[in-house]
Amino acid sequence: MSSETNNPPLPLSPCPLVLILGGGFAGLAAAVDLAKAGKRVLLLERRSFLGGRAYSFTDKITGDTIDNGQHLMMGCYHRTLRFLEKIGSLGNLKFQPNPQVDFLHEEAIGSVTHARFKCPPLPAPLHLLGGLAGLKTIGWGDRLRALRVGLAVRTLNGNRERLADVTVRQWLDSLGQSDRIQRRFWNVMALATLNEEPEIASADMFARVIELGFMRTKRDSAMVISRVGLSDLYTRQAEKFVEARGGEVRLNADVARIEFENRRAVGVTLRSGERIEADAVISALPYYALKRTLPDETVAAHFSHLDRFKSAPIVSINLWYDEPVTDLEFSGLLDSPIEWVFNKNAITGDAGKRPQHLALVISGAHDAASKPKEELIAMADGEVKRFFPAARKQNPFHAFVVREHDATLSHTVGTARSRPGHRTRFDNFFLAGDWTDTGLPATIEGAVQSGQDCARIVLERFGT
Ligand SMILES: Cc1cc2nc3c(=O)[nH]c(=O)nc-3n(C[C@H](O)[C@H](O)[C@H](O)COP(=O)(O)OP(=O)(O)OC[C@H]3O[C@@H](n4cnc5c(N)ncnc54)[C@H](O)[C@@H]3O)c2cc1C
Repeated sequence: MSSETNNPPLPLSPCPLVLILGGGFAGLAAAVDLAKAGKRVLLLERRSFLGGRAYSFTDKITGDTIDNGQHLMMGCYHRTLRFLEKIGSLGNLKFQPNPQVDFLHEEAIGSVTHARFKCPPLPAPLHLLGGLAGLKTIGWGDRLRALRVGLAVRTLNGNRERLADVTVRQWLDSLGQSDRIQRRFWNVMALATLNEEPEIASADMFARVIELGFMRTKRDSAMVISRVGLSDLYTRQAEKFVEARGGEVRLNADVARIEFENRRAVGVTLRSGERIEADAVISALPYYALKRTLPDETVAAHFSHLDRFKSAPIVSINLWYDEPVTDLEFSGLLDSPIEWVFNKNAITGDAGKRPQHLALVISGAHDAASKPKEELIAMADGEVKRFFPAARKQNPFHAFVVREHDATLSHTVGTARSRPGHRTRFDNFFLAGDWTDTGLPATIEGAVQSGQDCARIVLERFGT
């Protein structure tokens, strides 16, 4: 939907107040840029903590930090990296010197193959071919045919629209990608980046992932991971940054209704009944939360695209083993209900620590999200035993499951066309969040970009 209008400049109050709704990556990125530019900012967050869908907490039994789900970033997350640099947190990230992903595959019962995808410093798309050359789970024919995917992305020249109605599976089939390379490489990438199965995920977003992640520099393709829990990576730092510049961050501030008059947002009413007036409002709420805060059907009619979105879940299973099970930092499991195993001790720089804390991830977890936690834990332990022989003689002494039912927007075919821009038909009301039309999948980078772009629009309208 395109609801953008050519708005006249906003009348200036002496010190305009910008309200930002939601304290996830998008809201905090907007608040940081506006506060840095000297604007009066008030960020309202419903929960008693910041971070939205990317936060961490302390496990009561082990004292370890648990992320609501392990997050991976890439070198191509330029906006996120700049945001973290601004708030003084870049040092909390670990950058792979060379793009590398380890895959494990059970060739026969008990016999596990370790295959490494490691990109050499060659120009794209040869870079991708070089990476695939080391993948023992794929034959040479498949490796060479994978070049067609790189070339297809190149010839799109950013014109991805014609892929909007095609699934990842259909697109890869049309490019002659065998079942084997789809199962052992492309599907893993699609599920990890789009959080949906390739049979329903749209090819336009996948082409974008390949373009940004594999068709540019070696640094852009490298994985980037936080050495600290997600909340410790950005929430406190961003809050301090905003407050040090005169802005305010209010927790437990549940926005019940956004108030509109004529073609303007005039403020919000909180669940407590408090009313807050504002000169401009940026919603950095997820699509389903925004829907609940629209005051009436007349306003809701301008946001009808919200009804077209669905969410895709992610399930994370944390397991603790007395004795180390793996020394790999993270590994992809092929032909397994678990996609990734993260070795939290290694990630946080304490590889030799006992017990070993593993975080296992199931993306596009439509089935797993409704399974009982005991079943998920037993399945996850079974998979760890299957892929890591060192786990076969022990059982996890503790487990913790996190289910995120609304982890991301479901990137099914056609969804991209419904994603709204940042401007709305209301002169001073803007939309941020990973689900808006960022040209990226619903990720941290999309969220940060959307928040920063909304801040830029507000600054243009109010003057910098
Ligand atoms: C388990 C999991 C794993 C993921 N893995 C990755 C990954 O590896 N890499 C990656 O890039 N991305 C990943 N993502 C996606 C990433 O976390 C999101 O894209 C990003 O955090 C979204 O940020 P946001 O600010 O747009 O929205 P949110 O983080 O949802 O922020 C919205 C905020 O609004 C608040 N809010 C809601 N209603 C109200 C209200 N009425 N009043 C006030 N506040 C309200 C919420 O509490 C929340 O804090 C993952 C997500 C999950 C859940």
